[in-house]
Amino acid sequence: MKVLVINTGSSSLKYQLMDMDNEILLAKGLCERIGFYDSVHKYYGKNGYYNKTVKNIKSHLEAIEDMLKYLVNEDYGVIADIGEIEAIGHRVVHGGEKFTESVVIDSNVLQAIRNCIDLAPLHNPANIIGIEACMHEVPDTPMVAVFDTAFHQTIPMYAYVYAIPYELYENYGVRKYGFHGTSHRYVSKRVAKLIGKPVEEINLVSCHLGNGASICAIKKGKSIETSMGFTPLSGLAMGTRSGSIDPALISYIMECKNMSAEETTNYLNKQSGVLGLSGISSDFRDLLKASKEGNKRAELAIEVFAYRVKKYIAEYIGVMNGVDAIIFTAGIGENNALVRQLITKDMDYLGLILNQEKNKLATGIEMKVSTDDSAVEIFVIPTNEELEIARECKKILQ
Ligand code: AMP
Repeated sequence: MKVLVINTGSSSLKYQLMDMDNEILLAKGLCERIGFYDSVHKYYGKNGYYNKTVKNIKSHLEAIEDMLKYLVNEDYGVIADIGEIEAIGHRVVHGGEKFTESVVIDSNVLQAIRNCIDLAPLHNPANIIGIEACMHEVPDTPMVAVFDTAFHQTIPMYAYVYAIPYELYENYGVRKYGFHGTSHRYVSKRVAKLIGKPVEEINLVSCHLGNGASICAIKKGKSIETSMGFTPLSGLAMGTRSGSIDPALISYIMECKNMSAEETTNYLNKQSGVLGLSGISSDFRDLLKASKEGNKRAELAIEVFAYRVKKYIAEYIGVMNGVDAIIFTAGIGENNALVRQLITKDMDYLGLILNQEKNKLATGIEMKVSTDDSAVEIFVIPTNEELEIARECKKILQ
């Protein structure tokens, strides 16, 4: 079964075509700067073929048309006919409380995704554009929506409501939703396989540490707590996001800096986190380099980031009353040995002992990085959200 996975951003389209009979990637691509005169389309096709074109791609519909042309191209395409694509899986960021799992897309589902736009005004509209463009180009191909929020719909109510007047939950849907669900689910299943136990029998703390970062407590295969909330702004300090702060700071910042509510939200989303702290970069590679060269604020930003992760891990071990394994994934989690070392330092009381040598070797590869006598296992697992989406498609449609 060939499954096309689509992930649309406001000006981007990422796609992968997979053969799900044996989970092989056939082709993938990325269109960026859609709507600009210098849009870029990178395509990776048959036998290592790579092509980059810069041209004006006016809309997501045009990007999808372009993608389909590549996929069926005689020389570097991977299918003879568009009809070979048996299913399309769409990453949809917000499914509100309506979607607790992936669903086949029909007009009712599309409307329900539209109804969640208020909850994800930057992401859901782009996802809808992607779905509509595919409906236009390949109307007979079944499509599945896979939601970032769905995995967290098992979080109990006492953990997802905020201690603010209840009517805000009832009337405005104000609650914790959580994000990165597809990644947390993928790595949790992967670690269960490596440990050799069903995911329903183990407790895990999954640390998705990328430019956006979140932690998830996964008890017996179900998300019971996560660090992102109503929006992705809460929880960990991130590349440019502040993570959780004293809520009274918002009006204080508005006054100090003479900013509107919108400007302040932007400030906390785009100019804070390790970028704001270091004044250098949101990228951990830059921070590591600067810190090695003696830049104290870069060093501080890395310490703040790691300290927050450590606190969440301890908290989640507490709420689950024990843990079998800790997982590090996404750009920083998969590649940054120093950050993993800082996070797990002095956690032997909770049963975590990092194998320093293995930790240094684990860059972008799947690996157990705890010592043999560590009561809690520690794993580096490269995430694969696209594969998880394709698996969801296959599961639902078969
Ligand atoms: P993501 O959002 O998952 O793409 O992660 C982006 C973050 O991962 C950035 O802060 C990068 O600096 C970091 N990252 C990616 N590759 C590496 C690497 N080889 N070493 C250290 N950090 C990395």
